[in-house]
Amino acid sequence: MSPRPHQVDFHCHLDLYPDLAEAIARCDAAQTATLAVTTTPKAFRQNVKLAQRSKFVRVGLGLHPHLVAERSSELALFEALLSETRYVGEVGLDAGPRFYRSMPQQIEVFRRVLEMCCAQGGKILSVHSVRTASKVLDMIEEFLPRDRGQVVMHWFSGTRAEARRATELGCYFSINQVMLEKPKGQELVQSLPTNRLLTETDGPFVEENAQPIAPGAVQKVVHDLSNILNISVGHAREMVVQNLVELVS
Ligand code: MN
Repeated sequence: MSPRPHQVDFHCHLDLYPDLAEAIARCDAAQTATLAVTTTPKAFRQNVKLAQRSKFVRVGLGLHPHLVAERSSELALFEALLSETRYVGEVGLDAGPRFYRSMPQQIEVFRRVLEMCCAQGGKILSVHSVRTASKVLDMIEEFLPRDRGQVVMHWFSGTRAEARRATELGCYFSINQVMLEKPKGQELVQSLPTNRLLTETDGPFVEENAQPIAPGAVQKVVHDLSNILNISVGHAREMVVQNLVELVS
């Protein structure tokens, strides 16, 4: 990422805001290095088109676990587009009540995604793991060796032991402000190596004052992270920027 960003939003659905071009412009104006995750391969090209001149926005090729039941046929398109991008997301597994039924398909799609990323090499993935942290880590260990790609666990909500295992597998963690609202999340984040921490908004799904959080609005999570780590806000922000620089270098 050059020029050096001011802050990092490593998981934001820019195309789910009313105006994608405006969301991109906002990230650029604030010099927020932003990973624009997508939920279906069909959305990828429009994101790339609008972000092509952006200095700070990169687009991930995604197939969201919530949509796998209806969209697994887009896996062929995913495969066709993968060589066009270094970034992949949102992908992963979700065993929440609404999505549990599609778990066999989700596992099949995620396995194929990991295998394709392994074959091409050098990808950086933003990975969803709701109620599936152990299974997701099993699959990363089996299908995406550390020297074939890098994983950022998005909104990680596993146990401390699972977080330790993710760390040992080389994973980074993108932290949002909701994760730091409760002591359990704070303790989990405190247990992570500081050189693996990134920030994210997960906008527009995360809300602030009953409104969708603005694209790239990581000020609150950076502030809360600085409190948890007992460092200054500026240090926390700069630490996350440096972690991103090292991830992508
Ligand atoms: Mn998301």
